[in-house]
Amino acid sequence: SGLTAEAAVDRVRNEHRARFAKARDPYIRERLHDFEDLANRLLRVLAGDKPGERELPEDAILVARNLGPADLLEYPRDRLKGVLLEEGSAASHAGIVARALQIPCVGRLMGLRDRLSEGDLVIADGESGEAYLRPRPEMLEAVQQRIAVREQRRAEFALLRDVPAMTLDGTRITLLSNAGLAVDLDTLDDAGSEGIGLFRTEFQFMVSEELPRLEAQTQLYRRVLDAAGDRPVTFRTLDIGGDKVLPYLDAEREENPALGRRAIRLGLDRPSLLRLQLRALLHAAAGRELRVMFPMIAMVEEFRAAREMVDVECAWARRRGRALPQLLRVGAMIEVPSLLFHLDALLPLTDFVSVGTNDLLQYMYAADRTNPLVSDRYDPLSPPSLRALQEIQTRCAETGTPVSVCGELAGRPLEAFALVTLGYTRLSAPAGGVGPVKRMVLSLDLPAARRGMANLLGSSAGSIRNEVESLARKLNVAV
Ligand code: PEP
Ligand code: MG
Repeated sequence: SGLTAEAAVDRVRNEHRARFAKARDPYIRERLHDFEDLANRLLRVLAGDKPGERELPEDAILVARNLGPADLLEYPRDRLKGVLLEEGSAASHAGIVARALQIPCVGRLMGLRDRLSEGDLVIADGESGEAYLRPRPEMLEAVQQRIAVREQRRAEFALLRDVPAMTLDGTRITLLSNAGLAVDLDTLDDAGSEGIGLFRTEFQFMVSEELPRLEAQTQLYRRVLDAAGDRPVTFRTLDIGGDKVLPYLDAEREENPALGRRAIRLGLDRPSLLRLQLRALLHAAAGRELRVMFPMIAMVEEFRAAREMVDVECAWARRRGRALPQLLRVGAMIEVPSLLFHLDALLPLTDFVSVGTNDLLQYMYAADRTNPLVSDRYDPLSPPSLRALQEIQTRCAETGTPVSVCGELAGRPLEAFALVTLGYTRLSAPAGGVGPVKRMVLSLDLPAARRGMANLLGSSAGSIRNEVESLARKLNVAV
């Protein structure tokens, strides 16, 4: 209607801003960022900027109010060394993409842009979630030393890449990595990972601006299987709801989304989404092995119903003469405490299980993992957590059910020491954790560790971190 293209984009953006600002629901207000992201990208394209070709100086740290899910992928990866956001958090979309690219990302830095000028020296510490503006020379030196130690470690881990993870007494431990985006696949080989123990399929949905269609889902799953080659991949079906909200999926407002209609609950209540995903997985894995697991199973009936959906999809494909996976394994995640008391009923129904300690512990301790006020109140290295993990391992061993641990714990050497000592031989961790955990495994004398750990589990203390660490040090385990 007579406006230039740029002015038209700007007008629509202003209309959206006004509409979103009125929304009472904070989730809806948050979604404004996605529209802003889209409008900014449109404006940049109209100005002749080609996606994927944004310029950056060497060793750049990007400072932004917020970033859209796709923005980060447009910067040259070798120059971008850190991301600081005023609004987003490490758990935000941009944070997820940054982690996949192994770029430190710190969020919730209010008013940052007013305190910095272009060219200022900044340290982005993704580990502690802090940023240091114009650091003093001593600070800089300390950080550089830390980086040097890290680089040295990384070189040591690279040497271990093709060494099998075997304890001193000859127990073989399988080290897998967690992934969720196509960019994670690049790190699979470097990390020396033996496969993907947890592929978080919802990430594709979270960084997408609309519901990924059957074809897009199939393509991604096929790429993942191709990249893994003959290494196993375990796909976890959609885990949305809770803190993972999809803007294009109208969900009912819930007072307490972490205890709400998350993951498999949504999949069973609105089966079309899950059915489509299962179809894509079966199709992508035609002629190969397919491993699928369901998140947030709280009752045996849920697993039964989900597994039945897989059977129905297989029958559908067969009727149409479609090729099916050569081997199909269906598993459950153990991340809701109720299952601990029904393993005898669950395990015979599954081909394998994987323990999601991130959720299992948040629900056991009733402490929201995304809430910094409570998420650190309990220690995973405590008698209740370790006894729960021991119980799962024992029941799985008795029934011959393959079991792995795929929470973040599995990627930390001290925690992994405890897990392996409890009998777990399959761990899936963020790719960066594979090297450090392998180093730990190679130095571990398992029978001695087992004897020491048995005494610690009887402790009445809230945390036995120091005791577990002393045990590891006494046995010269590299934690
Ligand atoms: C877990 O809960 O431990 C897990 C691996 O799944 P996510 O972190 O994606 O909830
Ligand atoms: Mg989970």
